[in-house]
Amino acid sequence: MAFVVTDNCLRCRFTNCVDVCPVDCFHGDQDMLYIDPEECIDCGACVPECPVEAIYDESQLPDDLVRWVEVNAAKARTTPTVTETQDPLPTAAARKKALGFG
Ligand code: SF4
Ligand code: SF4
Repeated sequence: MAFVVTDNCLRCRFTNCVDVCPVDCFHGDQDMLYIDPEECIDCGACVPECPVEAIYDESQLPDDLVRWVEVNAAKARTTPTVTETQDPLPTAAARKKALGFG
């Protein structure tokens, strides 16, 4: 079991979540972040940090987001670790608003 980043993170890439992760298990590419399921210790600290509610406990994923389990595992193997907050993508504010998070 692990926590999983889903598609709300796409085109946002706010990185509030990485600051609180005690085991540095976030990875990322130019589009979004992913959680390494081998490293995540299921602490849940990242969930309330995400302004667009992109992070789920794997066991509580809605059916239409289950595919992100595989995506996170695969991408975590091929993308670099992200351990510090970075500037959000230029599209982040508009994306956040479009998702209904003000
Ligand atoms: S805080 Fe949320 S939107 Fe931002 S990088 Fe983390 S998971 Fe993605
Ligand atoms: S649940 Fe904890 S260990 Fe897992 S990604 Fe979030 S902050 Fe890191």
